[in-house]
Amino acid sequence: MGAIIVAMGILDNAKEIANSVHEIKNLELYARVLNLHSDIIQLVEDNNRLRAENGELNKKLQLREKMAFKEPFYFQDGDETPYCPSCWETKSFAIHVVFVFNRDDAIRWDCPSCKTTYMEKKDRRVMRPHKNEPPSTPWG
Ligand SMILES: [Zn+2]
Repeated sequence: MGAIIVAMGILDNAKEIANSVHEIKNLELYARVLNLHSDIIQLVEDNNRLRAENGELNKKLQLREKMAFKEPFYFQDGDETPYCPSCWETKSFAIHVVFVFNRDDAIRWDCPSCKTTYMEKKDRRVMRPHKNEPPSTPWG
């Protein structure tokens, strides 16, 4: 990665300057150069951390743009397996639900992560076995 090579160059350069200043035996100047050197290390570390955080946020943003809600699940283009809406909406985790069965009256999917069971009734009503959920609502 280019930025890391540049950072290494700056650190090497600062170290060489510190060594040169050490040779001319100016203690005050030497102390200042050493401080400068440790400030540079701090900046390089901050920069690396911010770069990593920024990469993570970009990945999250890209994922967010890819997820499309088609009730009751989330989907990604080119991927027919639905994603758990509970995991996505509460934790931004893209977790595939697992197909359990397709009966005459209903299709069932389970989330392996949050363990939510999704029972999709064939009369186009969604029922979730959660105590606090309102009664199933018509959709479409
Ligand atoms: Zn889940």
